[in-house]
Amino acid sequence: MAATASYSHGLRFDAGRPCLDLVATVGARFSEEPVERLDTPERLRDWLLGAGVVPPGTPLGSVDASWLGRFRAARDLLHRVVHAEVDGRAAEPDLERVNALAAAAPPAVRAVRTEDGTLVRAVAAPFDCGALVGQICRDAVELLTDPTTRGQLRQCQGETCSLVYLDMSRGHRRRWCSSEVCGNRERVARHRRRHG
Ligand SMILES: [Zn+2]
Repeated sequence: MAATASYSHGLRFDAGRPCLDLVATVGARFSEEPVERLDTPERLRDWLLGAGVVPPGTPLGSVDASWLGRFRAARDLLHRVVHAEVDGRAAEPDLERVNALAAAAPPAVRAVRTEDGTLVRAVAAPFDCGALVGQICRDAVELLTDPTTRGQLRQCQGETCSLVYLDMSRGHRRRWCSSEVCGNRERVARHRRRHG
């Protein structure tokens, strides 16, 4: 997505779907020092824009600490559900909670004419947190119930990396969430083992 660079701050938008990108806002989850990337309401605003959950330019002044809490709770729930699916385990209570969140009414969208006469999508303000959390949970419901996307779910093979992504590569042999991040770390470690 072209808009990502300016919103990055270590946030990543390369897992293949918004629900997986949300799960990816905790880095190194399986290490002793997981990295919390959704640490302020500002960071959550950056994430919502970067992941394309809301259209560019959406005013996000109502995003506050309570939003942060709800998004983190939904993220941890999605983390458990997605990992259970990758591992072939049933996680029914968590799945039911995702379903309940996904039932929220979607945020109202409007077509707004810009100065040059073209129509762009805008979210009708004010919108609430539950509508956006619901949108991300519906994304997870769609992903998990589509045999094609569900079959592309992979967990990164990086040692402490917990990222789950969609492997859309040809031949489906992608091993890393990112060859620049985990792939590179593994190459460096391998080099060290050989020469250290
Ligand atoms: Zn990784």
